[in-house]
Formats: sequence, C-alpha cells, structure tokens
Amino acid sequence: MATASPVQPETLRTLPSDAARQIEWGFADRYDLQLLVQSTRAVARGPVARLVANGGRNTHEWTPEKAALLEAFDGAGITAVFMEPEEGGLFAGPKNLALALVAFELAWVDGGAATASLAGCLALAPIHERGTAEQQRHYMKLAAPPQPGEDRKPWRGAFCLTEPIPYVGVDTGMLNGKLRIVEWKPGEEPILQVEKRGRFITNIGYANFVTAAVDSDDERIKGSCMVIVEEGDPGIFDRGTPTRKMVHQLSSTGDPIFNLRIPAGRIVGGYEIKDGVLVPRYNHSEVIEAVFRRTRVTVGVMTAAKLLSSVEPVIRYQRGRFRGAETATPGSVRYELGLQAREDALHRLVDVWATGEASASLAFAAARAFDELDPLEKDMEKLYAERGVMGGKGRLKMLREAADKAVELMQLPAGDARKQQLNSDLLLRFVQLDSLADVLCPAAKLWNTGWGAQMMREAVSLMGGYGITEDCPGFLGNKWMDAQLEATYEGPEAVQRRQLSVTMTNPVFLAQFRGWIREMRTIAAEHPGTGACALATAMTMWHWTLNYLQHSKDADGSKLYQSARQGVTFPLADALCWLVAARCQILDVLRLRKHGAEDPSLAEGLPGLVNFLTDLCHVQTSRASGEIARICAELVFGYDRHPAWDEPGARGCWHQDELDAIEGFIPGMNAYALDVIQSDGSHPQKAGPCVKCHGAQPFLSLHSKLDACLTGSRLAKDRAAEAISKIMIPEALDYPA
Ligand SMILES: Cc1cc2nc3c(=O)[nH]c(=O)nc-3n(C[C@H](O)[C@H](O)[C@H](O)COP(=O)(O)OP(=O)(O)OC[C@H]3O[C@@H](n4cnc5c(N)ncnc54)[C@H](O)[C@@H]3O)c2cc1C
Repeated sequence: MATASPVQPETLRTLPSDAARQIEWGFADRYDLQLLVQSTRAVARGPVARLVANGGRNTHEWTPEKAALLEAFDGAGITAVFMEPEEGGLFAGPKNLALALVAFELAWVDGGAATASLAGCLALAPIHERGTAEQQRHYMKLAAPPQPGEDRKPWRGAFCLTEPIPYVGVDTGMLNGKLRIVEWKPGEEPILQVEKRGRFITNIGYANFVTAAVDSDDERIKGSCMVIVEEGDPGIFDRGTPTRKMVHQLSSTGDPIFNLRIPAGRIVGGYEIKDGVLVPRYNHSEVIEAVFRRTRVTVGVMTAAKLLSSVEPVIRYQRGRFRGAETATPGSVRYELGLQAREDALHRLVDVWATGEASASLAFAAARAFDELDPLEKDMEKLYAERGVMGGKGRLKMLREAADKAVELMQLPAGDARKQQLNSDLLLRFVQLDSLADVLCPAAKLWNTGWGAQMMREAVSLMGGYGITEDCPGFLGNKWMDAQLEATYEGPEAVQRRQLSVTMTNPVFLAQFRGWIREMRTIAAEHPGTGACALATAMTMWHWTLNYLQHSKDADGSKLYQSARQGVTFPLADALCWLVAARCQILDVLRLRKHGAEDPSLAEGLPGLVNFLTDLCHVQTSRASGEIARICAELVFGYDRHPAWDEPGARGCWHQDELDAIEGFIPGMNAYALDVIQSDGSHPQKAGPCVKCHGAQPFLSLHSKLDACLTGSRLAKDRAAEAISKIMIPEALDYPA
C-alpha cells in the first residue's frame, strides 16, 4: 500500500513586505509613520544612493553634493520629524519610533546619511529634554524646515560633548570645556565666556548652533552644564579640521574650537541665582543622560537595517554566481541555484538574516517603549507637583516605595485581582516601564551594533572578493566599516555594558524578567517551533548565574559581582542582550501571525512568511542559548581555583590504601573511583583531580537541560535555508550600485 507523503508546510515566497513589517514593528495603525517611511525611502534609495554610487564617500570633506542631501531631507519631511506641529513639525506626540524608522530607511542605504539627519536631532535633544519652554520654542522653530511661502534656511545643529584626549571620551566626567562670568551688571543677565574644544563632532561643517558640555571655571557658577552657542556669537566659532574618517563620509565631522560670549539664558534648562552664585538647573550629566537614553536606540536601529539590507544582494549574488559558464546551462542546479546549492552558503545567510530580524525587533521594541514612557514622564511631573514632592530625595523615596510595591504585585500568582494595579496605577506603570527602558536602550545599542558589526563581516564574506570592492551591490563593505562607528559613538560598548550591569539588577526589571520566563513557556506550549522553550531555559540559567555571582566570591575571597569587576559584570550584560533580542523577535513574529491574518494584502503569503520567520526565531534562540551556556559556565566555574594533586588533603581524591580498605565491604569500589593517588604518590596524567562542583549542581542540571532544548533547531535552520534557496527576489536592487 502506498503511503501518502507528508504535507510540506508553506514556505517563504518573497521578501517580507512593508505591510508585514508594519505589523511586526508596531506601526500598522500609524498611517503617518507609513507615509514617513515611504518619503524617507525615496530619499535614501534616490539621492543618497546615487551620491554613494558616484563616489561621494571617497572624501571626508563636506561637499555641495553632500549638502544637497540636507535639503532633500527637509523636502521629505525628515527634518521636521523631531518637532511638534506648532514648531513646524509633522505630528504630535512621542517621536522615538518615527525617528527609528527614519534611521532604518536611511541606514538601509548609507549610515552616514542617517547620522547627518540624526545628529541634528541630537543637537536639539538637550533642549528638547531639559531646555526651558522658551529655549524649546526658539530653537525648534529655527531648526524646522521652512513652511510654504517662508523664505529662510533651517538652522542646523551639532552636539559637542567629546573633547581632545585626555578629556571627555567614554568618561564623560573628565570635562575640560570651561564657563566663566565675564560681565554681570546689577539687575541684568550675566554674560558668560564659553571655552570648549570638541573632538569628532558631527554636523560641525555647517552647524549654526551647538549644544556643548562645559564645567565651571568660576566660583560664581556651580558645577557643570550644557550651553547653546551660535555661529554669530562674539568670539571664535572655528569649525576646525574635518576628521579624516574612514566611515560615514556622508556626514560632516570635525574638531571645533569655541571661545564665545553668550548670555546666561543659553544655559540649557535655565539657572537660578543663589547667594550670588549662578546655579544651572541641570548639570551636564543630567542632560546627556536624558538625551542618550533615547538617541542610542536609533543608533541600534541603523546596524539592524544594514544586516537586513544585505539579504537581497547576497541572494542575488549567490544565485547568479556561475551563470554564463559553459557548464552552467539554464535548468541545471549550477545555473539555477549557483552558490545556493551549497549548504554552508545558505546557513550563513540564515544566520545573518536571523540576527537582522532579532536586532530590528529589539531596537523597535526599545523605540516603542520610549514612546510609551514619554507621556508617563510628563504625567509623573504632574503627580510630583500634586503631591508636593519637588526635591530629588523625595522623588527617589516615592519611586523606591513604588518599586517595592510593583515587585510584590508581580510576584502574586497569575489571576490575582490585585495585579491589575500594575496597569492602572501611574506610579507602578512608570517604575515598570522605566526599568524596562533602562535595559532595552543599552541592550539595543550594545548588541545590535557590536554583534551586528561581526555579522556584517559575515554578510560581506558571503559576497567573496566582490564584498570588499566599491562595486558591491548594497554597499556592503561600507556598511561593515560603518557598523563599527555605530558601535563606538554615543558611547562605545563599555558604556552600555557598564549601564546594563546596574540596570539589569534592578529588582523591578528582574521581576519582569521572571515573568518573561513564564511567558516564553506559555508561548512554547502553543508555538513550539519558535524555540521559546529553549529561550526560557536559557533565561533561567542567566537568572541563576546572576544570583550566584551576586552572592559568591572568587578563589581569593573577593566579591564577584561588583562594578570594578568588569570581567564578571560585562559578559553577563552581553548574555542578557542575546536573551532580550531573541524574545523581541519571537513576540514580533507572533504579532504578525495574529494580526497578519486580518490584512487581506498579506493573506496569500502569510503562512509561508510566518513559518520562515518562526524558523529564524528557532535558529536565533538556539544561538542565544549557546552564548548563554558558554558565558555563564565560564563565569560560574572560572573564578574557582582548580584542585591540585599536591594541595593539602588532595581535594576530591581517593588514596589507594583507603580504597583497598573500602573494597572489603563494597566490592568493586576500586573500579568506580577516579582520581586515585597511588601509595607511591603517582596519579593520573591531567591538570588535577576533577572538579566536584557540589555548589553548582543546579547549574549543571540546567546546562544539560538547555543542551537538550536545542533539539530541532538545526532542522529549523535546514528549512530556513531551503526557503531562501526558493524565494523570489526582484531582477535588480531598487537602488544603484
Ligand atoms: C565619526 C564620529 C562622529 C562622532 N560624533 C560625535 C558628536 O557628534 N558629538 C560628540 O560629542 N562626540 C562624537 N563622537 C565621539 C564619540 O562619541 C567617542 O569617540 C566615543 O564616545 C568614544 O570615546 P573615545 O573615542 O575617547 O574612546 P576612549 O574613551 O578612548 O575609549 C577607547 C576604548 O577603551 C574602552 N574604555 C574606555 N573607558 C573604559 C572604561 N571605563 N571601562 C572599560 N573600557 C573602557 C572603550 O570602550 C573603547 O573600546 C564621534 C566619533 C566619531 C568617530
């Protein structure tokens, strides 16, 4: 009797459509954002791509052709995204997701173009986050593109924190920029002298204003602050020499020198006079903390865009690799599949694609979290005012109490009605979301750019020699180098790891994290193919390891989890990023599965797309689990000293005469005992007796469970690889090479 062949699951037909991405990345209901994506894409794949193709990146000088891109940004509405409608902006409300989408579209083609656009927002961000209402009104209006009938050029800005070595770099407290009072007439505003030298300052070639970090050099000014300087201010506004950079050449970067007089009203956020001393409302650290918290997310988006943008050019290259050869006739495997007939070529592309998906999901999740957080922050200001809590200490106390309450509620069993407070109470919602954003932002910046740069190399390698030429379609070689800048600016990896090592131990975050473990198991029950079960086990292992390290000491008795011990805290921060990214990826695919079915334009290819993206989740969770197992094992065991043969008492060893004595009442004991020291002192040839690991038994059980959880992940990779070998792609890339 003939057996029916199993029904093949539907598989991917085309690259994911815009409609699918809108659902996955959470803007299917935002028509304004969908239009913004289209207009940004037209600039990216039009003027930006043409400029790169025509060699615009071959010089680091700021050229008229590069300057023309700024006008293209204005025309497409990109410049106006940052502002409110009354300031000349496009739409009201939070802008984090909108800016992330702009960054994604521009970086799909060129990271420098994306940076030129974003650096303008970075310059305005101190004013937006901490400026006085008047400063906000004034500078946003100046920077907004002209309205129809208005004859003016929009002001461009630069953000100046980094200084020439040995001053500000990663350590933002080592500030050399100076601020002094040079004139202070009774009853009038003080006039200040600003001295600041910048290093690697983006947009400096054409900036009309600069937000700069400076420190007091005058006993009549308290501490540090950020100030706004303008090109027309009296004194020196020297843009300096352009940086001879090998990356992001479509943005302008240089080392400026400022020595200018400004009114005290240019201190970002304003100031008070207390006992004859000018006290800025915010010090420079408070301003940059509020700024980078949001702007680093968009940097993480940029590297994700690069990875996803490499998929189509790589497929086209692999397919056409042997076409034209006599032996590769149409219809032959060599002609039709080219390099895609080789498993490794496909598997590596699966890895690049899966990383791109996970990093995009993570960065867009972070952007959405900040969109949610922005109005809550405003509501919190009102709440503080209502309750008369004005000082920092009072606020901290209130937040600490709310945090304790939130953790308590999150620990209640599912279904307990008291849990509803977590969503209905403003304070509780705020502390939860704030602690989450504190992790998502550095994780997106760290993992997307750092691991993204590694995977971008992998994408380049798939194009062979072509990958490292200027002719490479999709500009992949440029994107590889550019990714390293994204890993560096706005604080390199060490800064993100340092931040994560603190925020990931926040009990409110950890309570949410434990909820994620349960969430992943529930998802796994319904969608086992996502790899969510393995992820839950990997999450459990990470959580166990953090707890272990927080309460353990090394072989010399020193505490393991402490800020100076970057060898412990940093790898654990890296490990967390893998987990967070894989979770975001799974959640996005589930959203697509659920809501895609409601969109008729998606209906036809949806099952195949979801199956493929689910396999990518499985591939990614398995890779993430491997990373967790590797990192955690090294940390748990690496700080114990290995037992030695000659240490007193020879830990964990049997002595032959002991064994002989036991053999009398436990026959066969001799055969079971390892690590036996003979009566002449000789022992097996190895580093020492094997480690017994009594304290780490739960870890070992988790480790073997996690290994088994990887079951099926390579089958998922095989399926994804096969799908890629069959996917239809357009004849040519939609932007020039
Ligand atoms: C093209 C470009 C554009 C830029 N645009 C701007 C801009 O517009 N505005 C602006 O203000 N800045 C800008 N920067 C500066 C950028 O933000 C800094 O280069 C970056 O923050 C790193 O500082 P640094 O170069 O001094 O590195 P360093 O501080 O010297 O760091 C070197 C290495 O040491 C590590 N390290 C340093 N300190 C620690 C530590 N405490 N613990 C562990 N490891 C550590 C770092 O991770 C890094 O790997 C730009 C840079 C470039 C290249």
